[in-house]
Amino acid sequence: MFVDKAQITIKAGNGGNGAVSFRREKYIPAGGPDGGDGGKGGDVIFVVDDNFSTLIDFRYKKKYVAENGENGGKAKCFGKKGEDLIVKVPRGTLIRDAKTGRIIADISSDEPVTIAKGGRGGWGNQHFATASRQIPRFAKPGHLGEEIVVTLELKLLADVGLVGFPNVGKSTLVSVVSAAKPKIANYHFTTLSPVLGVVKVEAEKSFVMADIPGLIEGASEGVGLGHEFLRHVERCRLIVHVVDVSGIEGRDPIEDFNAINRELVNFSKELSTRPQIVAGNKSDLASEEQVAQFREFIESQGMEFFPISAATTLGTSELVSAIATELDKLPPIKEYEPEPLTDEEIQQMEEDQTGFNIEIEDGVYVVDAPWLGQILSTVNIDDYESLQYFQRVLRSSGIIDKLVEMGIKDGDSVSVFDFRFDYIE
Ligand code: GDP
Ligand code: MG
Repeated sequence: MFVDKAQITIKAGNGGNGAVSFRREKYIPAGGPDGGDGGKGGDVIFVVDDNFSTLIDFRYKKKYVAENGENGGKAKCFGKKGEDLIVKVPRGTLIRDAKTGRIIADISSDEPVTIAKGGRGGWGNQHFATASRQIPRFAKPGHLGEEIVVTLELKLLADVGLVGFPNVGKSTLVSVVSAAKPKIANYHFTTLSPVLGVVKVEAEKSFVMADIPGLIEGASEGVGLGHEFLRHVERCRLIVHVVDVSGIEGRDPIEDFNAINRELVNFSKELSTRPQIVAGNKSDLASEEQVAQFREFIESQGMEFFPISAATTLGTSELVSAIATELDKLPPIKEYEPEPLTDEEIQQMEEDQTGFNIEIEDGVYVVDAPWLGQILSTVNIDDYESLQYFQRVLRSSGIIDKLVEMGIKDGDSVSVFDFRFDYIE
């Protein structure tokens, strides 16, 4: 099955927590702090793998999680870094933020791209010894790894895309000008997935041609097959429009040509302005008059016309040279630039890092903030310094202000996860 869209969740590893530990040496009852730092969480990195041609694997596996960093240890032992997770995708995969549709990356070159960054490890207590605080009984928690739901969308990389009605001979053309062997039959919709063929022009020169399933009228509105495949033509530098010039199936080549172009406009204005070369196929079955008439029409549209017979290879080498000449004049295959974060995303990120929600349940102020859990996990509530640090966090994040605004009074209870304390003015 050809799958060119998928939605997955990716999660980078959390940073490991810093350690609280003290040196133990003979004859030294209480040594200095030596708690090591937590390791960094692993990243989620995407790379091209040319062995893959579809996104089918992503239909089955939906979540991709990199390893967490290990916690720091005693004797200044650093926690081990979490292993990066490498996700392999076919060349030409666009990664978008599922919520906003923003393009995050275009995985088209061999350069690996980090999509979710692992959290930094927290500092161990060895960093917190000062002259006035010689026994720091706290350490910093690791930062959470980034988590994001993304859509993957394959947009094939080809120089030339073939478009046309079903059965006009697109697959036959690819099979005679390249080594690719797409299915050919006198049957509509023989081609159900795009096929890429490398077309050799000269010893050192070649281009990639994409045979995509035939379009039918209404395809751009999602009627029947074809619409979803147009995205594979979007990157193409040149469109070769294949038309059955013989009208053997009772169709009119001029009407067909116009109908396909309407589909292109409806799908994308930009795509419809892509340079086009027209191949009048099945010329072996057409009369000279039919070919001449169609040529006149196409040339009046300002386009180049080539009568061919894919089945007998007549005229195909002329078509290939014309394509190569045209490609020389055109810019390279389009790669998509990452788009900037939307306001919505920036707001969401801020909320994830500092946002909180407070509700009063049975007279208790219940604070909910995912990021606070990580901090709380490393707070030693029996230690004064550690508690002070926690209080500073509550203050700087605006939680205290909010409690006051909500009318909290001296002695009221506040609950943060499983930690409960009395509010003191
Ligand atoms: P596609 O649906 O556009 O990919 O069309 P195919 O390449 O599968 O061809 C459809 C049918 O037309 C097949 O039976 C081919 O053998 C036939 N065909 C393709 N090109 C020619 C041609 O130049 N002349 C003739 N007579 N038949 C052709
Ligand atoms: Mg075909």
